[in-house]
Amino acid sequence: MIAPDVETAIDELQELVEAARVIAPFTGAGISTECGIPDFRSPGGLWTKNKPIPFDEFLASQEMRDEAWRRRFAMEAQFSAARPGRGHLALASFYRAGKAPAVITQNIDNLHQSSGISAEHVIELHGNNSYALCLGCGKRYELSWVRQRFTDARERAPDCADCGGHIKTATVSFGQAMPEREMRRAEQLTLDCDLFLAVGSSLVVWPAAGFPLLAKRNGARLVIINREATEFDEIADVVIRQDIGTVLSPFIVH
Ligand code: NAD
Repeated sequence: MIAPDVETAIDELQELVEAARVIAPFTGAGISTECGIPDFRSPGGLWTKNKPIPFDEFLASQEMRDEAWRRRFAMEAQFSAARPGRGHLALASFYRAGKAPAVITQNIDNLHQSSGISAEHVIELHGNNSYALCLGCGKRYELSWVRQRFTDARERAPDCADCGGHIKTATVSFGQAMPEREMRRAEQLTLDCDLFLAVGSSLVVWPAAGFPLLAKRNGARLVIINREATEFDEIADVVIRQDIGTVLSPFIVH
C-alpha cells in the first residue's frame, strides 16, 4: 500500500516501529543524498556521469586504476565534508533504543558510523571508501598515503609497498566477490527481524536486493522508503514515496 501523504506515512511507520521487536534497517545511496553525496540512479547521479569501473577492468589495466583513483580523489571534498543526515540519525536512534541491533548498508560513505552506530554494527555489503586495501596481501592503506604516491607519480595508481599487489578502495566493485561474513550477518539480521526498513535504495543491485525479499518471505513486515518506485513495492506492507529526511526526522531522539 502506498502511503498517500507524509503525515499518513509517518503515522503508519510509527505504529509499525512501536509494534516491532527487531528492526532491520537496510540503506542505499538515497539516505545520503541530503548529505551532499549523489546517488547512482537519480537524474544527474553518478551513474549518468561516470559508469562504474568493473573489477576485471580495474585489475586488467593501469589506466583504469589511475582513473578509479582520479575519480575517488575528485570526490574527496564531498565525502569528507558529509555529515550524517536525518535518516542516519533516526536509524541511530532505533539502534540506541535497542530496537535495531545493526544496520545493513549498501553505502560506502561511513555515515552510519559517524551517526553513532558502532562500526561492528554497521554491516557494509559493498565495503567502505574511506580507506584502501591491497588486493594481494590485504594490507590496509590510508587514503592520504595513496594520494601522496598518486600525486608524486603524476596520477599513477601505486601498488602495495609489501607485495606489489594493486591497491583499491575497500569497496566492492561490480564483478568483485561479496564479503562473505557481511552477507551472513545481513542474512541473520534479516531472518531475526519482524520489521525490515528499506531506505533509499532502488533495490536493483543484487545480491543486496535479495534481503527485503527474504525478510518478507520470512514473515517480517516490509516498509520501503524511496522517492521512486522500486521492484518490490508490490510486496511491501507500506510504500513511502517521500523524502527520507522528512519522513524519518520525527524518529530522531537526541
Ligand atoms: P541507487 O542510486 O540505485 O538508488 C538510490 C535511490 O534513492 C533512488 O531510487 C532515488 O530515487 C532514491 N533517493 C535519493 N534521494 C532520496 C531522498 N532524499 N529521499 C527518498 N529517496 C531518495 O542506490 P543504491 O540502491 O544504494 O545502489 C547503488 C550502489 O551504489 C550501492 O550499492 C552503493 O554501493 C553505491 N553508492 C553508494 C553511495 C554512498 O555510499 N552514499 C552513493 C552512490 C552509490
